[in-house]
Order: sequence, then C-alpha cells, then structure tokens
Amino acid sequence: MAGKIKNCPMCGKLFNDTGHKVCMDCYDKILEKEHEVVEYVRDHRGAKIPEICEATGAPSGMIKKMIREGRFEQIGIKMTYPCEKCGAPIITGKICQSCEEAARAELQKQAAMQTAARQMSKTDQNRGQGFRSKDR
Ligand SMILES: [Zn+2]
Ligand SMILES: [Zn+2]
Repeated sequence: MAGKIKNCPMCGKLFNDTGHKVCMDCYDKILEKEHEVVEYVRDHRGAKIPEICEATGAPSGMIKKMIREGRFEQIGIKMTYPCEKCGAPIITGKICQSCEEAARAELQKQAAMQTAARQMSKTDQNRGQGFRSKDR
C-alpha cells in the first residue's frame, strides 16, 4: 500500500510516509542519533537520561522509547527512566506498577461513581433534569 504524502514533523519537507512518520533524511538522522545514544550509554554506564540528552542532543522521549524497546539491554546495560508520577525507575509504560494500580483503582472508583450518577439521573428524570450524555 502506498504511504501518505505529508509534511515531515522534523524538517517540514513533504514526503511519502511509509510508516516511519518522518522523511527518510530525518529517519537516517534518528538512526544516527540512536546509535550515538547507545554509544554514549555504553561508554558512560549509569548515565541518567538528562545527562544523555545533554551529551547527545537526543530528546528524552527518544531515549525512553529506546529503553522500552530494550535497546540498552541488547548491549548488556539495564536502563530505566523515572515514573511520571512518583519517579520510581521503570522500563515500560509511563508510570510504575504501583502508580498504575493506583490509577486503575481510581478509574474503577470513577466508573462506579458514574454508574451511581447515571442511576441517580434516572430517578431524576421525572424532573426533566437528568444527565444527558453527548457521546458520539
Ligand atoms: Zn524530515
Ligand atoms: Zn510510580
């Protein structure tokens, strides 16, 4: 299937998106940068993400993505990045397991509250002021 023509988010050039989301020139640059990051981490074991960003100029998002992809494990280095909520070291997702469980419990609580609210609104309907959902 042919890709879509769009503007490269990195350089603004029009390109044919075949799934890399950036043009081939920028994709090459990303690969080069990733290589640089791997080299840096190999030479500086225990380097933290901000250090790596500063030394290589790579965005932290790229480094996190590489951690998730196991790129550093491939070279025998265990890399982690901090949980967005509590700062615990994680290697996957955005938040650590305990924050994820807390978030899930919170979601369940909200869902339960919504169900309760919906039931309340049913009993409210004879007053004509029930919650109306605009879900589409
Ligand atoms: Zn580009
Ligand atoms: Zn956490």
